[in-house]
Amino acid sequence: MAKEKSIEERIDQLHADGVIDLHFDLPMDLYEKRKRNNVLKTEFLPELEAGNIGAVGVAIYIEDRYLPETGLRVALDQIARLYAEAEQCPRFAICKSYQEIVHARKDRKIALLITMEGIEPLGTDLNLLRVFYELGVRAIGLTHARRNAAGDGGIFAPTGSPRDGLTGFGRDVVRQCQTLGVIVDLAHINPAGFEDILAITTKPVIVSHTNPRRYYDIERNISDEQIKMIGERGGVIGVNSVLVSPREEESTLDRYIDHIEHIADLIGIGGVGIGFDFFEFIYRQWPESAQKELAAKFTTPHFIPDLRNHSHTRNLTRRLIERGLSDEKIEKILRGNWMRIFEELL
Ligand SMILES: [Zn+2]
Repeated sequence: MAKEKSIEERIDQLHADGVIDLHFDLPMDLYEKRKRNNVLKTEFLPELEAGNIGAVGVAIYIEDRYLPETGLRVALDQIARLYAEAEQCPRFAICKSYQEIVHARKDRKIALLITMEGIEPLGTDLNLLRVFYELGVRAIGLTHARRNAAGDGGIFAPTGSPRDGLTGFGRDVVRQCQTLGVIVDLAHINPAGFEDILAITTKPVIVSHTNPRRYYDIERNISDEQIKMIGERGGVIGVNSVLVSPREEESTLDRYIDHIEHIADLIGIGGVGIGFDFFEFIYRQWPESAQKELAAKFTTPHFIPDLRNHSHTRNLTRRLIERGLSDEKIEKILRGNWMRIFEELL
């Protein structure tokens, strides 16, 4: 009993400054519920608070059905809903810089960092990147799984992604991101595009939500060689909770931590963070036909039973402690490494 209590106290201390998750598909859900108010407060805040979440990367993502005609409009509306919802609940603050994140945390607010997953909202117009920057977008991944004007996504299979690297437009977007102060996110990009981005950037880059191919060998994830490239650049890799294993029985909290430890073994504890990609709340809202379409196009997601939403974050920290990681290392994984990236780049 005494030992039990001390673990919970350690979790409290480790979570005191707030855990950071760099990938959450919040804006698309707020957009689908745009006729309602206080969605953030009633549907998300309780779980975020239960998990002591201090900052979240919230990703603008445009579903196929809106493309190409209304991609820009839906992206703007997703951002509009984020601002409206954050205004309705003073527990949230949309942050555009490291200093704003620090201030938000001092006020015990949850910092929302707007990110973009796939540059479809830009079309082929580089000018719009500046507009999205002004609206608060501070991290951009060029592609989701599908091809777009910037490049190709890695497929959900061990080989077979398009061999092409970035397009000229994709290269322009990456260069402009570095000029503006937008974090370049390599999640989803195909292996050729991954190498191109590293060749034309000089600052640290991130992979907001991905996993080592060692335990889930698909080109949507990243190889040991790619992990080392991120490490050499001083970047951070966020470990994903929905692509932990192709097998349901191996999609466990322990396997999630195996991914963390594998990255740390390759590039050190300073290169690994959290990018939960909690997705079950959206998946559950879909009709069976949409769930089947996802399985056919990509994969059937296996949600980790005790790490399915933000309220379960304490389960992760508890297991990290039980597996013998020091508090110093756990703090870096949960918060410190992403804060270093924010301080360096935002
Ligand atoms: Zn994704």
